[in-house]
Amino acid sequence: MKEEEIRPVKIFDEYLRLAKEDTERYFGAEEREYSDCPACKTKGSLAFEKHGFFYETCPNCFSLFVNPRPVESAFVKYYTESPSSKYWASTFYKETSKARREKLWKPKAKLICNTLGRYDASQHSIIDIGGGFGLFAEEIRELTTKAPIVIEPGPHLADVCREKLIPVIEKFLEQVGIDDLPFGPKAFVSFELFEHLHNPAAFLEKLKTLMESGDLFIFTTLSGTGVDIQVLWEESKSVTPPHHLNFLNPRSIEILMARLGLEVLEITTPGKLDIDILVNNHSLIKDRFWQTFIAKATEAEKEQWQVMISESGWSSHMMVVCRKP
Ligand SMILES: [Zn+2]
Repeated sequence: MKEEEIRPVKIFDEYLRLAKEDTERYFGAEEREYSDCPACKTKGSLAFEKHGFFYETCPNCFSLFVNPRPVESAFVKYYTESPSSKYWASTFYKETSKARREKLWKPKAKLICNTLGRYDASQHSIIDIGGGFGLFAEEIRELTTKAPIVIEPGPHLADVCREKLIPVIEKFLEQVGIDDLPFGPKAFVSFELFEHLHNPAAFLEKLKTLMESGDLFIFTTLSGTGVDIQVLWEESKSVTPPHHLNFLNPRSIEILMARLGLEVLEITTPGKLDIDILVNNHSLIKDRFWQTFIAKATEAEKEQWQVMISESGWSSHMMVVCRKP
């Protein structure tokens, strides 16, 4: 898979341009709150400033996170009405949905299906938190017997799911109650949501109240110790406010889950794009080794490295499987 297939550079750069304008408009004058590392609660130290947001790194667990962060209400306003959010939901989605379905959602549905099988959870009800356009739900329902359910607070997106005959709970997770959910064992999933969360620990605490003993939570997010993010750092297009606030990593996820009393079953980095992202951003690389590697490595060598990066836990795309004990 290539980055261009799922994030065409012209459309993605226009989105980033709009987002940059929006950061000033929606967050410039907003009050900001200080906090410690979202994983281990150690005090962070300044890494860099980007578009008016300060990113810190944790000296203990190496998480990368925005601190201070604007109050939550500013994000709600941003996600519901900003031009860049609208662009993402309309133009970006339309132009890329076909490729993303094939390249991202079909393989992801297979991956989740296999993962559920590994933990005797094939009969669990799947609940997709922040299910958006319902692409994952559409794909996973082809592979499972129980109909998946989507939790999606956006009215427009909830309508899109309903049109696809996907059951929707049109609420923020904070407002969801046990009665909204099906009876019996459940597997909650969320994709590329965790890095956006204003308060990851609060999100997990809330989710825990909806889980019964033995229920699973499987999620994907960005790992801040992944190769392309480490190499490109503040120049990384993944490290972009106001969207991405939390970059945990396989080690810091362990710490966070232990703190919250969730049992980690596995943490993997199935990402496939690290090296391709470096190729596409080669002019921004400052490290000599990576400059040389990207300029001179053969395609076969690049592929070899990507496999090694993913398998050893150092890709920037991470998957976590945990269970309520
Ligand atoms: Zn930490």
